[in-house]
Amino acid sequence: MQSATHDYYRILGLSRTASADDIKKAFRRLARQYHPDLHSGVKKPEMEKKFKELNEAHEVLSDPDKRRKYDQYGTQWEQADAYAKSRAQRGARGHGRSQTPQSGRTSSGYGGGDFSEFFESLFGGRGRDEVPRQYAVQGEDVETEVDLSLRDIVSGITKRVSLTESVSCSSCQGHGSQRGRTCQTCFGSGATREHKTIEVKIPAGVVDGTRMRVGGKGRPGLNGGKRGDLYLHIKIRPDQVFRQQGSDLHATLPVWPWEAALGAEVMAPTVGEPVRVKIPPGSRADSKLRLKGKGLPTASGGAGDLFLTLQIVMPSSLSDEARVLYEQLAKQPHPDPRAEVIARSQRE
Ligand SMILES: [Zn+2]
Repeated sequence: MQSATHDYYRILGLSRTASADDIKKAFRRLARQYHPDLHSGVKKPEMEKKFKELNEAHEVLSDPDKRRKYDQYGTQWEQADAYAKSRAQRGARGHGRSQTPQSGRTSSGYGGGDFSEFFESLFGGRGRDEVPRQYAVQGEDVETEVDLSLRDIVSGITKRVSLTESVSCSSCQGHGSQRGRTCQTCFGSGATREHKTIEVKIPAGVVDGTRMRVGGKGRPGLNGGKRGDLYLHIKIRPDQVFRQQGSDLHATLPVWPWEAALGAEVMAPTVGEPVRVKIPPGSRADSKLRLKGKGLPTASGGAGDLFLTLQIVMPSSLSDEARVLYEQLAKQPHPDPRAEVIARSQRE
């Protein structure tokens, strides 16, 4: 009988007709749920066990060849696997001829004899040395958020990213036990946590919300499996001065009334050095100046534009001379600027 713990389909919550994509999706979903780093206290050992089973199920079912064998030999596969594991637990030195009585995992029905013969009858033609003890499992992907300022994405930046990684326990070589006792370094889990910092290059022009893949920087694989990947979620912090719209930037440019009226050359902010811009004579409030190429770089090598919205501001106090000048200005003939809104309000 196939036990529930080794029914790989049941572990993944799938039927035997599941597609490769179903398997991948179920694995990712459950891996996030069971990941030992996400649990603590009494739940942790249980999650570690589930996570191990999950990896095992995925390793077999995601490989079309292994899946076929598993589908065909279900029960025997389980025995073979238990046997291979018990061999690995006892260490690679013994050839596994003699079964250790205290290891409960060998008593799953395969009572003795030469294991390699058994394995050959199962899969055909494998030599003794090729008998897999444990299967290579690719390391997990890691996801982390990276906060950037607008200035970071103008030139691109090298960011330091801190990661916590589960590594094989060095005291017990990941077996969880030493000479039959629970390892006191990892408390039987076979893994310890390690903090590390890596540097990643963020290219110029990266967009908010981008999920950036850094190959081979995820968690290490098991039994020679390759490392997973690191995924960076790019988050761009809101800026004090510039509002971002795609690769374009928007900012407000305060001007005096006489600068708007007569035109002026003023300094304006950009994400790089401030630049000199021309305010055309007769500029209206809220009109926009467009500074071509002064926005953010784009992935294709171009750059967006910077739009400056003119904001007409008043000095906080007027000097006597300024008051006289404004009084002269007030005496000039000019239309009532409210005439239009008043007329419109009467039409309603
Ligand atoms: Zn240990």
